Amino acid sequence: MKIAILGAGMSGLSCAITLEKHGIIPTIFEKRNCVGDRFVNAEAMFSLLDRPIKDSLQFLSKNYDIHLKPISAVNKLVVHSKKQIGSIDGKIGYTNVRGRYENSYECQLEKQLITKINFNSTCEYEEVCKNFDYVILATGDGEYASHLGNYKCDLTCTIRGVTVEGKFVTDIPHVWFNYDVIPKGYAWAIPFSEKEANLVIAYPDYPDNIKLDINTIWEKFYNLACKDLNQEFKITDKFEITKYMMGICNIPKIDNTYFVGNCFGVLSPGLGFGQFASILTGIYSAYDICGIGKYEELVKPLFKNYNHSLVLRKFLESLKDNDLDFAIKNLDNKLIDKIIDMICSTDSKVNFLEGVTPLMKLWNNYKNIKD
Ligand SMILES: Cc1cc2nc3c(=O)[nH]c(=O)nc-3n(C[C@H](O)[C@H](O)[C@H](O)COP(=O)(O)OP(=O)(O)OC[C@H]3O[C@@H](n4cnc5c(N)ncnc54)[C@H](O)[C@@H]3O)c2cc1C
Repeated sequence: MKIAILGAGMSGLSCAITLEKHGIIPTIFEKRNCVGDRFVNAEAMFSLLDRPIKDSLQFLSKNYDIHLKPISAVNKLVVHSKKQIGSIDGKIGYTNVRGRYENSYECQLEKQLITKINFNSTCEYEEVCKNFDYVILATGDGEYASHLGNYKCDLTCTIRGVTVEGKFVTDIPHVWFNYDVIPKGYAWAIPFSEKEANLVIAYPDYPDNIKLDINTIWEKFYNLACKDLNQEFKITDKFEITKYMMGICNIPKIDNTYFVGNCFGVLSPGLGFGQFASILTGIYSAYDICGIGKYEELVKPLFKNYNHSLVLRKFLESLKDNDLDFAIKNLDNKLIDKIIDMICSTDSKVNFLEGVTPLMKLWNNYKNIKD
C-alpha cells in the first residue's frame, strides 16, 4: 500500500506516526527545508475546549502513544478588556512552541517518527494522486480543499506577531479583547520562557477592518501590552500572515484523498485553536487506512465543534467594548469564579462550548446575526 502525506506539520506527522505504529511506512513530502522551518510562535492547547477529554496531552499519550512535552501548564489566564482585567484560574491547559525551536511540537513529533521526510518537495497533489494509493493532504490551509471545490471559507484573518524579550511568568498567558484597539479580533501574549514571549494580534478581514492600517493597530496594541505588562520589550523576531483561512471542508475524504489538519478545517473560528484537532485528524486518517475506524465517523465531533465555534465568533463580534468590560469584570465575581472552577477542573466533563452554544445562538438571533 503506497501512502503519500503532503505536509510534515502537526496533522501530517501525527498521521505518519500512527501509520508506522500499525506497520505502514508512508512517503512524506514537505515543501520546506526541515520540520518547523517557520517563525517561532508560542501556542496553547486548552483542554477546557476539548471536553469530555480532561487533559489533551495525557489523552494523546495514553490513547494514541503520541507524546508531547509542553512549555508549561497554564494555571491562570489573564483576560484584558478595554477597561477591565479579570482572570480564569485553574489548570486550563498547556502552552507550547511551534516552528524553528528545538523543542517545538512539530520537532517533537518528528523525533517519534522512523520514516525519513522528503524535504524541499515540489510535488503537487495531482502528481502524487497518480503514483500513490492514498493521499493525505496536510498542507496547513484550505487551498487544496478549495481547488477541489470542497471547502467553505467563513472568514480570513490578518495576524501579526513578534517575539519579545522581557520578564514573564510562564504559566500565565494574557489575552486582550479590546475592539477599540483590535476591531472584532483579539491579541495575546504567550510566554515560552521566563525571558521570552510572543505578542500577537489577529483580526478578521471584514471590509471595515481592511480599510484600517495594520501598523496603527499594531502600535496601539504594542503600547497597551507594554503598559499592561508593565515593561518595555526588546523585539527579536517578527511575522505577519495575511488571509489566514478559517473554514471547513464539505466532506473529509474524497475517494482516496484525506483532508486533515487545517486542510480539513480544524481551526476553530471562535478562538483560533487547531493543534489538538489537527493531531486527531492525522490519527483518524491513519486509522481509516489501517481499517481501525471510519474517517467520516471519527471526525463528526470536529464538524460539530467547528460550528459551535463559529457561533462563538459571531457572538463575540456582536459585543461592544462595554459588554466585554462587564463580562471580564465578572470573571472575578466569586460565584462565577466557582462555576469556572467547576468547568475548568480536570474532573469536569462539561463541554463548555457545546453548553453555551444554544444561549449564544439565541443572542445572535436576537441581534439578527446569521450563523
Ligand atoms: C499565529 C498562529 C497562532 C496559533 N495559535 C494557536 C493556539 O494557540 N492553539 C492552537 O491550538 N492552534 C493555534 N493555531 C492553529 C494551529 O497552529 C494550526 O491549526 C495547526 O498547526 C494546523 O496543523 P496542520 O497540520 O494543518 O498544519 P501545519 O502544522 O502548519 O503543517 C503544514 C505543513 O505543510 C507544509 N506544506 C505546505 N504546503 C505544502 C505542499 N504543497 N507540499 C508539502 N508540504 C507543504 C508546511 O510547510 C507545513 O510544514 C495558530 C495558528 C497561527 C497561524
